[in-house]
Amino acid sequence: MHTCRNCNQSFQTELALELHRDTCTKGQLLCQVCGNRFREGDATQDGWHYECPKDDCEGEGIQEDLYRVEDVRTATH
Ligand SMILES: [Zn+2]
Ligand SMILES: [Zn+2]
Repeated sequence: MHTCRNCNQSFQTELALELHRDTCTKGQLLCQVCGNRFREGDATQDGWHYECPKDDCEGEGIQEDLYRVEDVRTATH
C-alpha cells in the first residue's frame, strides 16, 4: 500500500500514487509572484522560513507571497 503523505489517501501501486501527486493539492503552496505550484517541503528547510524554490523568483513568506492551495480554494468558495 502506498499512501500520499499530504492527504493520507492510499493507492495500490506506486505509479498510481505518482499520478495522484501531480493533482493532489493538499500541502501544496502557490507562489503569487511566479504562479508556480510546489510542495511545502520544497519551499522550506526548517519549517519556519518559506521561499519559492524557483531560482529566479523572489517570492517568500506564507500568507505573503506564498499561499496554501487549500486556503486559496476555500477562500474563493
Ligand atoms: Zn494526496
Ligand atoms: Zn515564485
